[in-house]
Amino acid sequence: MLRLPFPVAIGTAMEKKMFIMQATTQLIHSIPVDPLTGAISVPIYQTSTFVQEAPGVNKGYDYARTSNPTRATLESLIAQLENGKVGIAFSSGLAAIDAIAKLLRPGDEIVAVDDIYGGAYRLFTQVYQQFGITIKFVDTSDPEKVFNAITPETKLIWLETPTNPTLKISDIEAIAKIAKANNSLLCVDNTFASPALQQPLSLGADIVVHSATKYLGGHSDLIAGLVVTKDKALGDKIKFYQNACGAILAPFDSWLVIRGIETLHLRIQQHCRSAQEIAEFLQHHPAVDKVYYPGLKDHPNHAIAKKQSKGFGGIVSFTLKQDSIDAATAFVTGTQLFKLAESLGGIKSLVSHPASMTHKTIPAEKRHAAGVTDSLIRLSIGLEDAADLLKDLQQALESTTNIIETTESKAVPC
Ligand SMILES: *Cc1c(COP(=O)(O)O)cnc(C)c1O
Repeated sequence: MLRLPFPVAIGTAMEKKMFIMQATTQLIHSIPVDPLTGAISVPIYQTSTFVQEAPGVNKGYDYARTSNPTRATLESLIAQLENGKVGIAFSSGLAAIDAIAKLLRPGDEIVAVDDIYGGAYRLFTQVYQQFGITIKFVDTSDPEKVFNAITPETKLIWLETPTNPTLKISDIEAIAKIAKANNSLLCVDNTFASPALQQPLSLGADIVVHSATKYLGGHSDLIAGLVVTKDKALGDKIKFYQNACGAILAPFDSWLVIRGIETLHLRIQQHCRSAQEIAEFLQHHPAVDKVYYPGLKDHPNHAIAKKQSKGFGGIVSFTLKQDSIDAATAFVTGTQLFKLAESLGGIKSLVSHPASMTHKTIPAEKRHAAGVTDSLIRLSIGLEDAADLLKDLQQALESTTNIIETTESKAVPC
């Protein structure tokens, strides 16, 4: 439960009182009614500049790269949702990550989760390494490994939890303590969980980053990134890079993210409910080998996931008993409701095959070591009826098994 920062009318207009309300209610009513017209939806301020009464005398806005009222509404909304001080909106998740990396100086070191998002891996190793920043990758699901990896040069610890695509869980609170003792910043990429499930700043992290392209936008119709900091001064530093480097989120896309966030809690509940059902179904299917989902009791970090988040998310990964690229290809082209595409977190269910899509450029040996085997399949559970999703998976698994059996029997004669 959160306390609203301003009084809210209940009963008659005379009777304005502060009262405690649930996070979802607070979220819906924290999006202000337009003071100029009473518009209940946030206006899209599609403008590049703002007229000044005299040089430097304005209504709080001067140029739209620096600040725009629609974007500012989104920025304060995400700051509130993540329980932070400063929210900053970027044109993509990677632009948001890039602005955080600009806090570092030559000689500094990043200690990052080993199965980091591919785009962040490319940014850190192929862009920032050439400026004298070193990157160390560790299995952050064991806090002791983080403790052993850090040095006085470690200025940034980078977590994703759950990770992509094997849904490993790291203990944010334990790693925040390690970061603090070493004077390092802890940044958590909270894209997979979303603030509806997990608030890293409340668990001790300094920075949260989002690809708002995924659950926050929620409808697979935009690219956006968000940063939230716990500390005002740190947020202002990142805001400086937003303006100085210019990768801002446009007014219309800011409005779309606000609109997505308005139903975030409701969508996430359904994503989680269906994902749990699907993970349990897959676990008992004879064609399936391993299932990766933090909501399963035998997930190695189920207890930590349960402790630090309100739910286990909408992503489920699994491998086939027939561990081959062919079997996986047959499956991902055999689903009907699950559309074959990269990305996640939208209304429509998606299926992807990391070994031949997102993780294709990683050498097979390294990929296998990270658990991304040839038959690993990742599902982003959408908002369709779970019973229909189960039927689709069932038929795709059946036809996959048939295809594999037929090709195998053809091969037998020699
Ligand atoms: C998609 C994604 C990103 C990158 O975000 P874009 O909006 O595509 O730039 C970063 N982190 C995670 C975990 C992601 O899934």
